[in-house]
Amino acid sequence: MSKRDYYEILGVSKDATKQEIRKAYRSLSKKYHPDLNKENGAEEKFKEITEAFEVLSDDSKRAQYDQFGHDGPGAFGGGGGGGFGGGFGFEDIFSTFFGGGRTQDPNAPRQGNDMQYTMTLDFLEAVFGKVTELQLEKEEECGTCHGNGAKPGTSVKTCTTCGGSGQQTVTRNTPLGQMVQQTTCTTCHGTGKIIPEKCPTCHGSGRVKKPSKIKVTIPAGVDDGQRLRVPGKGEAGINGGPPGDLYIVFHVRPHEHFVRDGDDIYYELNITFPQAALGDEIEVPTVDGHVKLKIPAGTQSGEKFRLRGKGVKNVQGFGTGNQYVIVNVVTPKKMSEKQKELLREFASLDDDSNLGYSSSFFDKLKRTFKGE
Ligand SMILES: [Zn+2]
Ligand SMILES: [Zn+2]
Repeated sequence: MSKRDYYEILGVSKDATKQEIRKAYRSLSKKYHPDLNKENGAEEKFKEITEAFEVLSDDSKRAQYDQFGHDGPGAFGGGGGGGFGGGFGFEDIFSTFFGGGRTQDPNAPRQGNDMQYTMTLDFLEAVFGKVTELQLEKEEECGTCHGNGAKPGTSVKTCTTCGGSGQQTVTRNTPLGQMVQQTTCTTCHGTGKIIPEKCPTCHGSGRVKKPSKIKVTIPAGVDDGQRLRVPGKGEAGINGGPPGDLYIVFHVRPHEHFVRDGDDIYYELNITFPQAALGDEIEVPTVDGHVKLKIPAGTQSGEKFRLRGKGVKNVQGFGTGNQYVIVNVVTPKKMSEKQKELLREFASLDDDSNLGYSSSFFDKLKRTFKGE
């Protein structure tokens, strides 16, 4: 039995658009569906229609069929067509109609692009967080044409080259034989649409850049280089899709006195030799204001003191860091005669016991050289 031409089966012309093919299939399949039509031969007819549609609705299969007919290298030679053995219900038909296997539909809803914004914060703003308003240029749906890109009062047409799919099948001759390739439709540039009269506001893109104000709450504890996601505040969605997200990247300015390491803060405190030797109580700044720090007698330069809970609140809510005070004992560069005299007196009374660690270090070194 010689097979009938697929175009003939569906009653469409050789250059029918996808839409015309879909329409023809829809009405014919309703007419011959075995659940609805109990006449003799209806089921055979239905299978034939389905097979024709399966090939002609697929760009690459259609191109192959156009090139080689039923005897092509493709899989649509045998009777019945793969997978269409019979006994399928409406669900199968509807999934064929409504995008079941179709991908990259240019008219499908798509999420808008994510946006990134760099925000510079002062040290203390990062520590405590703040509520602020951003001004940025955002791509949104054009208000004049409501996103379809057509001049108000005119309409958008489906591209006849690709039948609205945005994809074109090109058959090329190569040394290896015929190659069937899917490319972006050159008529509509992949949109699947033709706009005869473009919207004067957006020039047909359906989208415009608009200055936009966004109120954001910066949480306490953000740090330099961190990123905050603000859901749904990116660019508007396409074809009714959801908007993208906004990402705020923080740049935190350094502080004059504080250095931050994660949730901890470091502060360098200069003290005098008498303060270090005799001990003292000194007021030190923290991000929460001044607190008193007790310096014990005999404090060495470089010693570290902890002020518990005086650091940065963790941005994810895991407690609060500490402030560490690093003591720096300053040797005086200028002294009065009286001070020098007193220091000489101090030195004459002092023995080497305060330098204990170094003498024992040298003792050890000496022993090492003697091989003990
Ligand atoms: Zn097109
Ligand atoms: Zn517009």
